[in-house]
Amino acid sequence: MQIFHPGDIGYDDERSGFQTGLRHEPQVVFAVENADDVRKAVDHAETHGLECAIQTTGHGLTVPTTGVLISTRRMNGVEVDPVTRTARAEAGAVWQQVIEKAAPHGLVPLSGDASDVGVVGYTLGGGFSVLAREFGFASDRVRATEKVGEVVTALEFELVEAGDVHAGEMFFDVQHAEAVFDAFHAWHLPDHVTPALTTLGEVVRVTFASTRPFDVEHLRVAPRLTDEFGLRPFAQAAGKPLPPHTYQGDNVLLGDLPLDALHGLREKAADASMFLGVLPLGGALDTGATHLIKLLAPRLGVEEQLEEVFDEVRPFVIGRSRNFRYAVG
Ligand SMILES: Cc1cc2nc3c(=O)[nH]c(=O)nc-3n(C[C@H](O)[C@H](O)[C@H](O)COP(=O)(O)OP(=O)(O)OC[C@H]3O[C@@H](n4cnc5c(N)ncnc54)[C@H](O)[C@@H]3O)c2cc1C
Repeated sequence: MQIFHPGDIGYDDERSGFQTGLRHEPQVVFAVENADDVRKAVDHAETHGLECAIQTTGHGLTVPTTGVLISTRRMNGVEVDPVTRTARAEAGAVWQQVIEKAAPHGLVPLSGDASDVGVVGYTLGGGFSVLAREFGFASDRVRATEKVGEVVTALEFELVEAGDVHAGEMFFDVQHAEAVFDAFHAWHLPDHVTPALTTLGEVVRVTFASTRPFDVEHLRVAPRLTDEFGLRPFAQAAGKPLPPHTYQGDNVLLGDLPLDALHGLREKAADASMFLGVLPLGGALDTGATHLIKLLAPRLGVEEQLEEVFDEVRPFVIGRSRNFRYAVG
């Protein structure tokens, strides 16, 4: 195992991740390779009374540590068992590895829209998959957890039998946003379909996926910049990795989302130059919430603005998801 202190060659690489706006500032980084290494790092933190943070990819960095950083990226073994239809992923594994090993057996994991996200961090936060409404949260499929203290060293979880999936996306110019939001809100959504509605500056994107066929004709309410829908390998629906960047964001879970509140969110998010994500829940997601709302800004220092935009739906807020919290405490 390599251990890095400030000033060492490799220290900055080891503490850096997907979030480029902030980094951990640890006294020491333990670049762990196995559970024994994790034990040494945890013991060091305990002996010296230091806080201990874990980083795999840095996608979900919330509050940087000044104590011990356990960097798991070298500890990244993945095994797939086609007989039990399960996978075992070590602490530093990312979804792409599981997707690649499961695919030859007609199996897929409940991974999300970015295949370079860490398996463990994602699953500990619930794990909202591109097939979430059909199969539930990734955390529902966990069979065994290996731990050293609070650090998960490996997870064993069920895979889902699926080859190709029905999936696609539509992009609209933002001038058609109101009509697209109306159509999305009116969608009589079958329980097996998982859609997402996102505003990204000048465009509005709708994505959707299921292992079973469904219809999206009613969403074609305006000219599309892109309109793709068909049967495709799960890996394509699972999303491409993005380059590292600076971002801050948060989410809320809602017990209801009336149309006027949805439009209020859309307008307020646009005024604040933030990206808005709307994820309908229900189906196999047994949360009591109807929607998860995500906000994301490509900059830091927007904590107050995030809450001002969420004010549009404040009466309906019933909680927050642990995932989709970025650079917020
Ligand atoms: C571009 C992007 C797309 C995303 N898409 C989705 C999506 O589709 N669905 C979804 O549900 N989420 C999604 N997320 C959120 C993501 O699941 C969380 O941010 C998650 O925490 C990332 O885990 P990580 O290990 O990659 O990140 P890291 O920043 O390395 O870790 C995040 C946190 O997870 C915990 N953690 C990580 N490893 C361990 C471990 N071994 N033991 C104990 N705790 C650990 C720690 O608290 C750590 O601070 C996305 C995030 C981004 C940035």
